[in-house]
Amino acid sequence: MKYVTIQEMNKKVTNITIESGVAENIYWIEVLRGLWVTNRHFWTNIWWHTFRLAGIKTKKRVSATYQYPEERRPIHHRWRGRHRLTVKQNGDMRCTACMMCETVCPCDCIHITPGESPDPDVEKFPEQFYIDTLRCCFCGLCAEACPVDAIRMDVIETELAGYTRDIIYTREFLLGMDKDRPWEEWKVKREREGVS
Ligand code: SF4
Ligand code: SF4
Repeated sequence: MKYVTIQEMNKKVTNITIESGVAENIYWIEVLRGLWVTNRHFWTNIWWHTFRLAGIKTKKRVSATYQYPEERRPIHHRWRGRHRLTVKQNGDMRCTACMMCETVCPCDCIHITPGESPDPDVEKFPEQFYIDTLRCCFCGLCAEACPVDAIRMDVIETELAGYTRDIIYTREFLLGMDKDRPWEEWKVKREREGVS
């Protein structure tokens, strides 16, 4: 394996060239080598897990398999994964529909429809506020960009995957007022608007 480093536009770019030898070019040798590696890991782990079950070598680190969803992988305390909209002390939404979060979102998963706020001191508020979490990459930029701390991302709590496609967060869901995430309703509306 040869590493070549070049300087381009002040950025360090590393090109990796993998040079195959005679053994790598013979198909069956590589297949057998792959089988050997897989089998070695399989049997090694079987033995260590058996020892652990018998109370021997319990501190030895072996491959970890989480029995999801009953057993969940520990999440770092700084990981942020669940969007929320915050409210003021009087219970009104903080969001002023400034569109900063929608603009900054790299995955185009926030969709806001601004409307005139019923509060005369506030210019706008979001009549609709959707987050399509299947598109979300959980970068946290929306929470960083918000000038009024109206959108936050909770730590620890995960809402990454679902068994259905109904992981569209509505404004009410984000405010904690509703548990429904009406994917079908949202899909029909988006199709009617001609948005993919
Ligand atoms: S976390 Fe990132 S990708 Fe997800 S909604 Fe916010 S800005 Fe968009
Ligand atoms: S959540 Fe914050 S950034 Fe997004 S529209 Fe509302 S006020 Fe603007």
